[in-house]
Amino acid sequence: MRIYDIIYKKRNKEKLSNEEIKFFISEYTKGNIAEYQASALLMAMFLNGLDSEETANLTSAMMHSGDVVDLNGIKGVKVDKHSTGGVGDTTTIVLGPLVASCNVPVAKMSGRGLGHTGGTLDKLESIPGFNISLSIEEFIEAVNRHGIAVIGQTKDIAPADKKLYALRDVTATVDDISLISASIMSKKLASGSDGIVLDVKVGSGAFLKTFDEAEALAKTMVKLGTDLGRHVIAVITNMEQPLGFAIGNSNEVIEAMDTLKGKGPEDLTELCLTLGANMLILGGKVNTLEEGKALLREKISSGQALEKFKEFVESQGGNYSIIENYSLLPKASFKVPYISEFSGYIEDLKSDDIGIASMVLGAGRAEINSKIDLSAGINFYKKIGDKVEKGDLIAELYTNDESKVEEAKELLTRSIKYSSNSTESVKLIVGIVDSNGTRRY
Ligand code: URA
Ligand code: CA
Repeated sequence: MRIYDIIYKKRNKEKLSNEEIKFFISEYTKGNIAEYQASALLMAMFLNGLDSEETANLTSAMMHSGDVVDLNGIKGVKVDKHSTGGVGDTTTIVLGPLVASCNVPVAKMSGRGLGHTGGTLDKLESIPGFNISLSIEEFIEAVNRHGIAVIGQTKDIAPADKKLYALRDVTATVDDISLISASIMSKKLASGSDGIVLDVKVGSGAFLKTFDEAEALAKTMVKLGTDLGRHVIAVITNMEQPLGFAIGNSNEVIEAMDTLKGKGPEDLTELCLTLGANMLILGGKVNTLEEGKALLREKISSGQALEKFKEFVESQGGNYSIIENYSLLPKASFKVPYISEFSGYIEDLKSDDIGIASMVLGAGRAEINSKIDLSAGINFYKKIGDKVEKGDLIAELYTNDESKVEEAKELLTRSIKYSSNSTESVKLIVGIVDSNGTRRY
């Protein structure tokens, strides 16, 4: 088999066989296929598409390109949650302890941030002492003992995706439904959970901009998981604006703790309750969304969710005194207000530009190996539909590099569109897709 013939076939809009897809993935992972040939094939796949059988074969080949983790050592129905990538998405740090406090085990493998999107691992590492590098044995033991553990996805899980995602990132081949589905589901399926709740983002801050595209992505991923015997629910949520107020790392940990204390931002709280209730449904704990949300609210108001957070941080070596004393988290030397120069209603926000502004201040990575400043970021206090007066505080910028402030402010100015007429707020939860179909909200 020759890679040239596979590229030629896909260029001519022909269907690839399972053998051809397996050949591409295994030889590329081993380093036997040149980057330029892999790039050409990705672009042919992007332009000419993969049908559902090719997508399933690609997912399976990527899933088996490395270790497939066996989590059978964990007692109970293990649930995982994955977001397709957002701005200021603080949910995992809230959801992990929240769901675990209902006795549904959470075994989570998380990633790092790239570009305008953040990653849970970086956020957790802003907690002094927190260790994300447990072995699989330690991971299983921690989940059995505490009901929750979060670790970095090891390099041995779906290594094909690691290489391919980096290549897609620089060849404009990220935003394709088949390629995103195969990328996400190969990792999730190799990570061993029984149930998976997917948070599929749609809007200006997401890879996919329309509901129809997000629904197609959700349906593809639900089918890929269901066909392999996993229970998968996808919640389609709006990414027209950042989630909560905090975008960064240590500020997002503070926001997560506020949410676990019952005083978090409304949108972040609502999303955590919806995703969490679906995790409880998959974990067999409740039957309906309403029942799940009620149980989660009770865990927040009784303090049990926060108590579980403390146990989680302590079990992974972190300093849990941060719960009472936020100043123990990394703190930036500059805190700069961003003040509105206009009066009016916020009509639109470009979340990706706000995410990039946070990255510019030091909170994110422009490239995979960039170093980040865990104390940097933005607290953005306004939402679409809000009325703003000239002179109002819109955001606070945190950085240790004062020379970046102007560029970040310009990005924020570009990201906000004002209207003189009142504007509508955006609905956060727009749909839920499971193996029975789509419910729109
Ligand atoms: N997240 C992933 O892990 N892969 C993609 O392709 C897109 C988002
Ligand atoms: Ca946030």
